[in-house]
Amino acid sequence: MTKQGIITKVSGPLIVAKNMGSAQVYDVVRVSNKRLIGEVLELRGDLASIQVYEETAGIGPGEPVYLTNEALSVELAPGLIGGIFDGIERPLDEIYKAYGQGIPLGVDIPKLNREKKWDFIPTVKVGDEVVSGDIIGEVQESESVVHKIMVPFGKKGKITAIHEGSFTITETLGEILNDDKIVKLQMLQTWPVRRKRPYTDKIAPTQPMVTGQRVIDTLFPIAIGGIAAIPGPFGSGKTVVQHQLAKWADADIIVYIGCGERGNEMTDVLMEFPELKDPRTGQPLMKRTVLIANTSNMPVAAREASIYTGITIAEYYRDMGYKVAIMADSTSRWAEALREMSSRLEEMPGEEGYPAYLGSRIAEFYERAGLVLTLGAKPRVGAITAIGAVSPPGGDTSEPVSQATLRIVKVFWGLSASLAYKRHFPAIDWLKSYSLYDEQIRDFFNTHVDKNWTNHVSFVSELLQTEASLQEIVRLVGVDSLGASDRLKLLVAQMIREDYLHQNAFDSVDTYTSLDKQFKLLDLIVEFNRLAELSIQDNVSFQAIDNLTIKEQIGRFKYVIEKQALKTYENILNEMNHQFDELRKESNNGY
Ligand code: ADP
Ligand code: MG
Repeated sequence: MTKQGIITKVSGPLIVAKNMGSAQVYDVVRVSNKRLIGEVLELRGDLASIQVYEETAGIGPGEPVYLTNEALSVELAPGLIGGIFDGIERPLDEIYKAYGQGIPLGVDIPKLNREKKWDFIPTVKVGDEVVSGDIIGEVQESESVVHKIMVPFGKKGKITAIHEGSFTITETLGEILNDDKIVKLQMLQTWPVRRKRPYTDKIAPTQPMVTGQRVIDTLFPIAIGGIAAIPGPFGSGKTVVQHQLAKWADADIIVYIGCGERGNEMTDVLMEFPELKDPRTGQPLMKRTVLIANTSNMPVAAREASIYTGITIAEYYRDMGYKVAIMADSTSRWAEALREMSSRLEEMPGEEGYPAYLGSRIAEFYERAGLVLTLGAKPRVGAITAIGAVSPPGGDTSEPVSQATLRIVKVFWGLSASLAYKRHFPAIDWLKSYSLYDEQIRDFFNTHVDKNWTNHVSFVSELLQTEASLQEIVRLVGVDSLGASDRLKLLVAQMIREDYLHQNAFDSVDTYTSLDKQFKLLDLIVEFNRLAELSIQDNVSFQAIDNLTIKEQIGRFKYVIEKQALKTYENILNEMNHQFDELRKESNNGY
């Protein structure tokens, strides 16, 4: 490298250097002879403001800055799946193996392994014409993931050579000829993280991403390609919900960004998530996961970059035609990193010290999610579903990060401290949460699960609203002031909360409920309500209904394994009819 700048100022993770006229914004630079990794954030004449991704202690004015003239990029190739990376894709697991705790400054370990050989099976032959995005072959990347090798963006032509065999990610797999120029093909591609990867078209989502979490699928469903936020105070269950989605959601690939919530030690990161099991295969969940980890003791700048690194990797697997789910836990920690950099840049602060562009940065991130038709002569449908946790201080969502997030996401799962305190999990507040995908995906439920799905769901949401106003009356004048039919409403609402919405993530059966079983459980509660209303019309007392033992059977239905759900459901329906018949007989006999 010939061109170099000179440091004029150091302020924590921010460095100002002069003599930087030939750099560009978002270029990577190496700072001082320790070769710390930095990225140009701002250029004014030949002065550059540089965000440094490593500890800058001991660095001072006069030291050199080396230009690379390359934008901050990620490497994309087999080896991502199962990997644990920091915010700029440095392989934490490899670094940990080589150096133990703490990343040595300026470490030059390649992002993706250069020695490992992968078995490549071509899916094109000599003479085929290919364009950007076309798949030229496959690599079994893990037990769970087939990695599709694609023609890189901007390249096309006729295949003149293609080889089957074992290759490292930088060895030549074949060649294409374009306008008399030979382009060598390899597995490895790079992509600048702050630029979205192109696709042919966006498609409106029409299918839910089934999660097996009843409150989500039934009341506040998310579409495949949708975007959701989970705001909630500390301890309200954000991480458990994100882990549940990572395990159970209908997604081929998981990109999980752990953003400095807890965990001061690298070992925490390397332990916690990798222990999760993939319920479908019994294998570690890591076999279809890319983990980006920022512990709170890592430099803030790497946290800022982590969501771009994560979403770029997600886009890459989307381009292969996969359903990717990306989780960021928590975007508040990311926004704090943004705030810190902005204040060091001495930008005009907006609300609560966050930069004025906070909202547009959040929007840019979520807009990279979606359902798309990919590039390529034979395009595929791929999806990124994005779910961001938000941890507003004190749980108050009127703060800027929550507000900016709510303006862009279409699903809001608001976690409530008081529900968590009562151990009602998931603590998703049914009165504040919403899903704007409801209408787009309603048909799916009605045609694929049951034609009564929407009716049942409306019944549930209306009853929960009614419960809130009835509780208000009860608080003022006591429960005795209510008539039998209002008492029944409270009872059924309680069944919905306790037997339906409450779901234990740590119970081996309750942790996941298929849509079919969700409907059956809903149906039992709706049917209970219908029979109870009829009984009340027949002058059966509320107390007699409240005493029915069928309630307990309905309450246990969620713990019934899927295979027995149908049989048990039918038995409960029969028994329920029988119990209500008996009640009405007794009351007609004048009891
Ligand atoms: P947060 O990330 O919001 O700080 P966590 O996700 O770590 O909160 O949840 C805190 C605790 O709440 C968990 O350790 C667990 O005990 C309990 N919890 C949260 N969600 C559930 C759930 N769905 N089922 C059972 N327990 C839960
Ligand atoms: Mg958490």
